[in-house]
Amino acid sequence: MNRKNKKKGIFVTGTDTGVGKTVVAACLALGMKQQGLKVGIMKPIQTGAAEREGELYSADAEFVQKALRYGDGVDRNGVDRKGVDGIREDGPKAPVIHHHPFPLNHHPFPFNPHTPYLLKEPLAPLVAAQVEGVNLDPARILEASLWLQEHYSALVIEGAGGVMVPVNRNYLMIDLIKDLGFPVVLVARASLGTINHTLLTLEALRYRGIMVAGVVINQPHPASCGLCEETNPQVIRAFGQVNLLGVMPHSPSIDMERGEIGNLGELVKKHLDLELLAKALESFPPQPDSDSDPSPYSDSSSPHIVPTSPHSDSLSPHIVPPSSCNGSSSPQIVSPSPHSDSLSPHLVPPSPSNDSPSPHIVSPSPCNGSSSSHIVSSSPHSDSPSPHRSSLLKCWDKEYLWHPFTQMQDWVREDPLVVERGEGVYLEDSDGRRYIDGVASLWTNVHGHQKKEIDEAIRDQLTMIGHSTLLGLTHAPAIELARRLIQIAPAGLSRVFYSDSGATSCEIALKMAFQYWQQQGKPEKVSFIYFENSYHGDTLGAVSVGGIDMFHHLYHPLLFHAYRATSPYCYRCPCQLTPSTNGMHGTPDTPTSTHGMHGKPDTPNTQGTPGMPDVACTSDASPAPVTPTPVSPVPVTPVPVTPVPVTPAPVTPALVTPVPVTPAPVTPESCRMRCLEDLERILQEHAQEISALIIEPCVQGAGGILVLPDGFLRRVRELCSQYQVLMICDEVAVGFGRTGRMFACEHEDVHPDLLCLAKGITGGYLPLAATLATEAIYAGFLGDYSQKRTFFHGHTYTGNPLACRAALANLDIFERERLVEKVQEKARLLTQGLQKFRDLPHVGDIRQKGLMAGIELVRDKASREPYGWEEKVGIRVIKAARKMGVIIRPLGDVIVLMPPLSISAAELDQLLSVSLRAIRQITEG
Ligand code: PMP
Repeated sequence: MNRKNKKKGIFVTGTDTGVGKTVVAACLALGMKQQGLKVGIMKPIQTGAAEREGELYSADAEFVQKALRYGDGVDRNGVDRKGVDGIREDGPKAPVIHHHPFPLNHHPFPFNPHTPYLLKEPLAPLVAAQVEGVNLDPARILEASLWLQEHYSALVIEGAGGVMVPVNRNYLMIDLIKDLGFPVVLVARASLGTINHTLLTLEALRYRGIMVAGVVINQPHPASCGLCEETNPQVIRAFGQVNLLGVMPHSPSIDMERGEIGNLGELVKKHLDLELLAKALESFPPQPDSDSDPSPYSDSSSPHIVPTSPHSDSLSPHIVPPSSCNGSSSPQIVSPSPHSDSLSPHLVPPSPSNDSPSPHIVSPSPCNGSSSSHIVSSSPHSDSPSPHRSSLLKCWDKEYLWHPFTQMQDWVREDPLVVERGEGVYLEDSDGRRYIDGVASLWTNVHGHQKKEIDEAIRDQLTMIGHSTLLGLTHAPAIELARRLIQIAPAGLSRVFYSDSGATSCEIALKMAFQYWQQQGKPEKVSFIYFENSYHGDTLGAVSVGGIDMFHHLYHPLLFHAYRATSPYCYRCPCQLTPSTNGMHGTPDTPTSTHGMHGKPDTPNTQGTPGMPDVACTSDASPAPVTPTPVSPVPVTPVPVTPVPVTPAPVTPALVTPVPVTPAPVTPESCRMRCLEDLERILQEHAQEISALIIEPCVQGAGGILVLPDGFLRRVRELCSQYQVLMICDEVAVGFGRTGRMFACEHEDVHPDLLCLAKGITGGYLPLAATLATEAIYAGFLGDYSQKRTFFHGHTYTGNPLACRAALANLDIFERERLVEKVQEKARLLTQGLQKFRDLPHVGDIRQKGLMAGIELVRDKASREPYGWEEKVGIRVIKAARKMGVIIRPLGDVIVLMPPLSISAAELDQLLSVSLRAIRQITEG
C-alpha cells in the first residue's frame, strides 16, 4: 500500500437533518486531533450558507474548525483559551469572526477546498443548487478531498442531510460517500423513530459496500429521557451490528447559532469512545488507488472499500458509553458481553405502548448463531423473497465470507448472487430471479436440483443416522455403495476408499501409489508424472501434480517433485505443428480432428514451472527424431497394472513415423500425437523413479476443456504398462455420464490402476469422493499389524452415510432413466447448437465431449491472439449471460457449458442462445 492509501478519515452523516451532525463532527474531529492526527475538515455542500463581508461561508465547517482549535481548552502553544474566542462554559458569548478560519488558505482552487459548494438557500442541496443555477459537480468535491488528504493526516467530512439526499440528477450523497472512500460515522438522534432511520441508513450504506465505522447517538435538544431514548443505543447496536462510538447528552453550553463550542471538550472526554474510534480508523484503511485494480465490472469508478466487520470490536464492555440521559450506564440495558448483546426480553418491560421484543423479532448478532438461523431458516419459497433478507445476506456475506478462487477485492464491490433454491436445471436467487444452472453447480449436478428420489433417500437416511465413522466401524450405505461402484467401474478395480472431495480422492491415489511401491521393495519410485494444463484439486499433493501455473506455480517450494509431460492442447499445439482449419473439436462422444491453424506456444496455461522438469517438445515441423523403443522396463517385480486391451491401438505412436512437414493440415492422426513423445522420453529416462502417472481421461477440464485426441488415453495406458508405472485416472470431472459414457475411460477401453471419483457421485448433492484401486494394489497393503503396511490415511467424514445414500439413489436414477444413452442424444444437440458459434469473429475454438463444452474466445481469430488477462473477457461474458438468466463460469477466456445431464432440449437451446448473445455482446460490442 502506498502512502496515499494510509490516509485516514471519516464521513459524518446523519439519519436525518437536525440530528446534531455538526456537533458530533466537531467532537470526532477533536477526538482525532487528541490522537495526534492533523485533522482537516470539509463540508462538501453547505446550504443555507451565511454571509460575511459579502462572502458566503459555512458556519458548520467553521464550528468544527473552532472545536478543533480550542475544543480541548488549550491552543497549540499550551495557552489556556477558555473564556476567549467564544469558548466558555458559563454562557454564550458573541462569535469571533475569522476571515481565514482554516489553517491552509493557500490552495490552487478558485473555491475553498474545505467548503467546495456554498449555497445560500436553506434547502436540500439539489433544490438549492437549481434555485441558484449551480450544477453540483462531484468531481470538484473529490478533487478538493484529494488536495486536503495531501495536507492533513486525517479528514472529517460532514455531509448534508442524510445519505439519500440528491446531489445532482443522477447522484446521491451516498454515491459521494462511496466515491470519497472513507468509512461513515452515522449520527442518530435519541428519540422515537430513530431505530428505524438508523437501521435503514446502515442497510443502505452496507448494501453499497460502504463501511460504517460506527454510530453516535446524540441528544441535540433538551428532552425528557424515557425508556425509548434509554434503549435506543442498545437496540441499534444489536440490530445494526455496529460500533457504538458514543451517546452524547444534550449540552446547553453549546450554541451552534453563535458558534459557541461550550463544553465540547468535556463531551469528547466523557462520552466518545476514542479508543474505539482509533481502532475503527485503523481497521478501515481507505481504498487503494482505483488504477491499481481496473475492474470493468465495478458499477462505479470509485475506489473500492473493503468491508471490515463492524462487529469485531464493537461489543467490548468498556466501549459502551453511559446512558444519554442520566450520564451513567444503565446496567440492565447495556450488555457487557460480546455474545450476549441480544436484548433479553425481560430487560425491556412489556408494555402496551412498547413493542416488546419477542424472541422472533429480536435479531441478535449474526456471530452468535441465533440470528443466522432466523435468516437462513426463512423459507424463501413460502413467501415472496424479502428484499430486507436478501440485502442483509449480501451484506453479511461481504463481512464474513472468503470465497474460493475469488478476488475478494472485486467481490465486495459487486452485487453477489445469493442462491436460495434450485429446481431441475434452474436456480433461484434471493431476489426471486431464476437462472439456468449452466455449469451444474460446479460440474456436480446430474439429475437437476430437488430430484425427488435423492431428496427422499437423504431424508430416509436421516431417520437412521446422519453420520458414523468408517474408522473401526462400518455402515450399510457405505458397503452398498462400494459394491455398486465396483460393479459399474472399469474392469480390474475392486476396492473403494472413500473421502470427501476430488482433491482428496487424488491425494489418496498418489499416496496409495507411492506406498504401494515402497512396500513392493521399490523405494526409488518416489516421483510422479502429470500433464501440462492438468488439474487435480487444491491440496498440496494435488497441486504438486497440477499443470496450471496460474493456480499452482506460487506453491512450488512446498510441492513434491513430479515430471510434467506435454498435453495435447491442439488449438495451441505445444509442438507448434500446423493444425488444420479451426472449428469444432470433439463430438458428442468422440473428439474429431478438425483443429485450428498454427498454434501459439505462449498461452497462459503452458508456461513452464521454474524448477520443475519442464520438458519441451520439438518446436518446428521437421521430422520427429525416431526414438528407439525401450528395450527393458526397469522394474523387476511384477507390476499390478491391468493388461492393455488386445484391440490394436487406433493410432501409431509418433515414435516410429516421421511427421510430415507442413503446410499439410495437421490432425492428431497425421501428427501422430507428437506431443506423446515427451511422455515417452520421461518414461525412458525416469521410469525407475516414477510410481504413477495421473491423467484426466479424455478431457482436461479446468485447463480449458481441452479434449484429448482419440487414442491418446489408450496410448498413455500402453506406455504406463510398458514402463511399469501405475496409471491414475482422475474422473472427478468427467465421471458419471458427463462425457456420454459412465466413465470417460470407457471411450478407449482403458482400465486404470487407480480411479478417482467425486463431484457427480452423489448427483451433485453432498461431498463424497472415492478412490478405486485394483486388487493387486490393495493386496500390497496387507500384512501383519507389526509390519505397518496399513494405509495410514482417513478423513473424519469419510463415507458419510447421508452422502452414500444420495450416491446410491443417484446410481438408481442412472439405471432407471437410461441416462447415459440420453446424454449421448443431448450431446448431439449440443454439437448442433455449437455450430452457430463457429462463425463468430472472436470464437477461436470450440471443444466438446458429451455434455461438456468449452468455447475459447480470442482477440484475433486468424492469429489466435488471446485477449489480455486484465480484460476479463470471460468474466464479462458470463456476467452478461447472468443478466439474461443463465449462470455459467469461464476458465480464463474459455466459456464453459456444463449443464446438469437432465437438461431438456428446450433448456439446452436457451443455454446456448443466451451464451451466444452474451459472447456477441461482449466481444462484438
Ligand atoms: N480433479 C479434477 C479433474 C477436477 O476437475 C477437480 C475439480 N474441478 C478436482 C480434481 C478437485 O475436486 P474438488 O474441488 O472436489 O477437490
